[in-house]
Amino acid sequence: MRSNTMQQMQLRRFFAKRVTNQVRVILGLWCQLNDGPWTTMGLDEFKHAIQTLIRFAQHFNEESHRRAARQIMQCLDLVDSDTLTPNPEVLHELTDLIGQLSHLALRRTDNEEYESANVLNPKKPVYIAMHNIEEAFKLSEQLEFFGFRVLVTTTLYEFESEMKSRRPACVIMDVAFSKDTEGLEVKDRELAGLEALKKAQAQYEHPVECIVFSEKAANIFTRLMATRTGGRFFHTSQLDVGRVVEELEELTQLMPPAPYRVLIVDDSRSQGLATQRALNQGGLITEVINDPLLIMDTIETVNPEIILLDMYMPSCMGTELAQVIRQLEEYHHIPIVFLSAEEDKEKQVSAMGFGADDFISKSEEAKYLVAEIKARGRRARELVTLMHRDSLTGLLNHTRILKHLHQEIDKALSSGTPLCFAMVDIDHFKSVNDTYGHPEGDRVIKRLAMFLKQRLRKSDFVGRYGGEEFAIVLTNTTVEDAKVFLNDIREQYSKFRYHSSKGEFTSTLSCGIAELTEQNQNFITVSADEALYDAKRGGRNRVCIARH
Ligand code: GH3
Ligand code: MG
Ligand code: MG
Repeated sequence: MRSNTMQQMQLRRFFAKRVTNQVRVILGLWCQLNDGPWTTMGLDEFKHAIQTLIRFAQHFNEESHRRAARQIMQCLDLVDSDTLTPNPEVLHELTDLIGQLSHLALRRTDNEEYESANVLNPKKPVYIAMHNIEEAFKLSEQLEFFGFRVLVTTTLYEFESEMKSRRPACVIMDVAFSKDTEGLEVKDRELAGLEALKKAQAQYEHPVECIVFSEKAANIFTRLMATRTGGRFFHTSQLDVGRVVEELEELTQLMPPAPYRVLIVDDSRSQGLATQRALNQGGLITEVINDPLLIMDTIETVNPEIILLDMYMPSCMGTELAQVIRQLEEYHHIPIVFLSAEEDKEKQVSAMGFGADDFISKSEEAKYLVAEIKARGRRARELVTLMHRDSLTGLLNHTRILKHLHQEIDKALSSGTPLCFAMVDIDHFKSVNDTYGHPEGDRVIKRLAMFLKQRLRKSDFVGRYGGEEFAIVLTNTTVEDAKVFLNDIREQYSKFRYHSSKGEFTSTLSCGIAELTEQNQNFITVSADEALYDAKRGGRNRVCIARH
């Protein structure tokens, strides 16, 4: 409940900020307009900004702003478009109204509560710049729901100034953003958004990551231009919120990958150390063994992501060792790379037949070795992800979530910390499939999966248990806290609106929670499942706690 009202407060503040920002834009344009004689261009831009404010104020129920903006518009309509000279009465009235607006803006900024909200949410914002403002706000509301901080910019001017004042986490840019902004110098109005983006990117050494959107089908030139201005993803015709959320996750959580763990096997101590030093300098974690016969135990303890084998060793050949490793199913996916002084290509090729993935010559430069190992490590991690994750949702699969559950149960029992296991199941999901089609059903599953992932802490685990069922391991959490937390998720989820071609709909979920005890440690999943059943029988859209 608490965080739900928090979210509503955040939404309100966010809306308030939209209006306040627009007032600032208007004040700026008003100053510009009065800097010299009025120009058609200046007046049009100013009128456009006032119209935007009217729309915002209407949208967010800011009556006083709306009234003031309307009156300003009426005054502006009285200005002769030929002479561009407002009569003194009109000017007086305008000055008065602008004064009122600035007071309204001031009151907002002085609001302490609002300022502290900014401190509370230190996440960098995502900027949305879309030609269709209504769509932009709809998208922003949905992204906020997923925990992103969003700022909708509505004019090129505003976009540019926001880009100058703060580097965003990401930009969602409509190629045609502000295409009908009169009087601005743009080469191609259809691509005004991309041009603005390019200009704004120039101030940053590393371009801001972007998701580019084009309502119309885009040709190769538009796509190339988008890529060159930092566009990592490209959407046409309609923005699929689910996909945008996924892409944002990828773009905004771009932390450097954790260093790869490499096991080096080399009978020569000095050679092993040299390789180790080279890899360490390249940011890789290494472990060296000089006795190849120790490999089994070492793999077990080091859990390497890549194995580097010397080719010729006295007690056994690298090729033999590779074969042994390949016979063990659990280490099947670990890339094996031979590192040897062998320069003979024929011998290298035949060595590859023994289960090795690559061959690197010892005479190779260190930076080549590091790059090669990193590329291998990246691919190996992708493979592990594919093996452990559910392909539709990217969550842990059934086997992995249970594996984590058992690990966490052991930890919790030995440390005496509480642990909860929860099962979540979408209500009447069959009817979603029946009414809106299977692909839409898939989207619902994905959306809930992303929502769960966003809400959980790093120390929690969430998996797709099967179909429309999810399993969650909440570490260091009492059943009381788990209930509050999951009930909040349940409530927020029920408010989320799905947009499908056959209309809008909402979906609800039921949840069962079991808290770990000495007694239930072997059947905690059964307990949670029973609680889930209670929730279903009790009418669905609720959270129940296991009775034992
Ligand atoms: P309840 O409220 O009792 O949970 O009703 P329900 O309709 O959600 O439950 P039921 O188990 O009767 O139906 C679940 C449906 O989910 C049946 C199955 O076809 C569908 N389903 C399972 N996996 C997937 C999937 O990956 N994608 C889609 N679209 N549907 C799926
Ligand atoms: Mg169901
Ligand atoms: Mg089910």
